[in-house]
Amino acid sequence: MSTDAGRSHARGPGAWLSEPLPQVAISFEFFPPKSAEADARLWQAVERLAPFHPSYVSVTCGAGGNPAEGTASLVEALRARADLCAVAHLTCATAPRATIDQIAERYWDSGVRHIVALRGDPPKDGVRDRDGAHYGFAADLVAALRRIGDFEISVAAYPEPHPEAASREADFDNLKRKIDAGAGRAITQYCFDTDAVLRLRDRMVAAGVAAPLSVGILPVHNFTQVRRFSERCGAGVPDWLCDLFDGLDNDPEQQALVAASVTAEQARRLIVEGIEELHFYTLNRAELTIAACRLLGLRPSLACAA
Ligand code: FAD
Repeated sequence: MSTDAGRSHARGPGAWLSEPLPQVAISFEFFPPKSAEADARLWQAVERLAPFHPSYVSVTCGAGGNPAEGTASLVEALRARADLCAVAHLTCATAPRATIDQIAERYWDSGVRHIVALRGDPPKDGVRDRDGAHYGFAADLVAALRRIGDFEISVAAYPEPHPEAASREADFDNLKRKIDAGAGRAITQYCFDTDAVLRLRDRMVAAGVAAPLSVGILPVHNFTQVRRFSERCGAGVPDWLCDLFDGLDNDPEQQALVAASVTAEQARRLIVEGIEELHFYTLNRAELTIAACRLLGLRPSLACAA
């Protein structure tokens, strides 16, 4: 489907708040908290978000994939305490293959059946083992996971190419390699340029990449932090977004109102254009994700509360 064709029906069903949208699958990302206070905040968020029935919730990990940093225990707690389908991120950038294999085997043995397979960012000193002791790229990790267990595997995709990619084509080829190696879903980096997301979707369709595309959405809780983080991960911050948050640095209430609208508008447009899975980067906070879900017509149901 071309983006232009999509645009022509952007004014059709679902474009306005009064018009119902097709049902989509939603999922939420959390990160392991580092203090008792952060832990309490996380669980407040989980309790408020669980009733929206996410297909799954995912838990980030550090670049070494080390579950001791809290990923494995949070995955377990989300399953046991909140009865959620919890998915572990696993990165391979810094730990040797044998260590990564052991972590994956432990996940399999403990009943975790879905992994987000990532390379992770290389160490800051830039030194990386190239002697074959490490999985070099996420595609290598996907192939290894396939050998270890019948995991459902999701991988990262980049509507704006990954900063280290030699070219847009090379980055797309990498995504195809990851799917060909056995991944079943691509989850995008957040991207405020919705046209770029739709171009990636269209390109996957044209290339016959059948894996579903789950679009990552970052609610802007703090615009200054988003700008700083985006510089590091290569995500663009468009001028229109800067204009919307201009002058609101010291006004968190107004920032939140603007952010809810930005998040919901992007989500609505994606759904109208045919995207069927949305993945919210919650930053362990519930309010903006809830606002967006409600504006999409989703309602919480207490039957699934944590
Ligand atoms: P890869 O797919 O291996 O790609 C990395 C780079 O290498 C790309 O530029 C690619 O084009 C290039 N490349 C791949 N193969 C080759 C090759 N054979 N030759 C040359 N170049 C190649 N980071 C964390 O630390 N923890 C997390 O929990 C985490 N979760 C994430 C979740 C999602 C949904 C996303 C989108 C990102 C996440 N990240 C996380 C960030 C991610 O780890 C970084 O973006 C990382 O730099 C790349 O990881 P990747 O899996 O995309 O790597």
